[in-house]
Amino acid sequence: MDKINLKGLDLTELREYVMSLGEERFRAQQLFSWIYDKRAHCFEAMTNISKALRKKLSETAKISTLKLVSSQNSSKDQTEKFLFQLEDGLCIESVLMFDPPRTTLCISSQVGCAIDCKFCATGLMGLKRQLTAGEIVDQLLMVQNLTGVTVSNVVFMGMGEPFHNYDNVIKASVILSDTLGPNLAKRRIVISTSGLVPKILRFADEGHKYRLAISLNATTDKVRSEIIPINKKWPIGELLNAGKYYTNKTGERLTFEYVLMLGINDSVEDADRLKIMVQDILCKINLIPYNSTGGKYRRPTKDRILRFYERMASLHAPVMIRWSKGEDIDAACGQLAING
Ligand code: SAH
Ligand code: SF4
Repeated sequence: MDKINLKGLDLTELREYVMSLGEERFRAQQLFSWIYDKRAHCFEAMTNISKALRKKLSETAKISTLKLVSSQNSSKDQTEKFLFQLEDGLCIESVLMFDPPRTTLCISSQVGCAIDCKFCATGLMGLKRQLTAGEIVDQLLMVQNLTGVTVSNVVFMGMGEPFHNYDNVIKASVILSDTLGPNLAKRRIVISTSGLVPKILRFADEGHKYRLAISLNATTDKVRSEIIPINKKWPIGELLNAGKYYTNKTGERLTFEYVLMLGINDSVEDADRLKIMVQDILCKINLIPYNSTGGKYRRPTKDRILRFYERMASLHAPVMIRWSKGEDIDAACGQLAING
């Protein structure tokens, strides 16, 4: 019989499991805390659990962990990229960024991505498979184990489209924010989507307190459909309506990400259109200068980036330029990809 992997189970599922062994419910809380707070890799470490039960656990269950393949430090800024191998041999990346007082971990939700954005290295890989909730959570557990740092913020901006793996991403976020586990504040978990409208509506309806970011990246349907193919299915108008629905329903501010690409979406007219598009939405705007992925796109000059930014300045909402970190180790937004 295959052993059940406890990493990735939520408290309810752990309860079902311990009760199936004929044990008391409170054991589930102990297991939860050992796995997600104390980051135990094996049952022997669980000293407040009797030897007999530890034996029963190790006969029927396991606690899988990601395998560290390599890690790279950026020489320019304090950023570290981790390459992890999954049990089936596939690999994913996570990026740790120090931006005092925050320590932010950028995590992956899929191996590759099906959305096929033309400016993104992950998109070029295609989708290999979904990550399980355990594999998502384990990125944080592993990085904390390896570095000894306490991560304060998690962003789903690594490989993959998180809303294409909705259930596992939400389950992982529930575990990450559990007070018995990693205990991250819900508002310090950001889920970034390329614009899967039905999932944005569902996220709003379910009333989650994790933060939402939407990668807008263009101001006309023509350009957006060229660079983000799902725009043909859910065009800008529908996406903005979904954003409005989310802010009205939850009262939360959302973030629009806008990757600036030379000659594609960085004109003064784009800035003017963008202002009008978001003017009645409770939001902030992050302008992300394009990071090279070796394709045909280019980063605008600094002057053009600042011109765009200044044009946006009269907007009611906060506008920021996000100079990516970790560019020299291909750890910046859009640069994560595994060859082969
Ligand atoms: N799939 C999700 C989250 C991962 S991508 C999404 O698309 O939102 C995280 C962010 O990186 C997105 O805002 C995306 O638009 C941006 N991005 C992708 N490729 C980029 C590149 N080459 N340079 C800068 N940002 C990029
Ligand atoms: Fe996928 Fe996001 Fe990259 Fe688009 S930008 S291909 S949605 S990871």
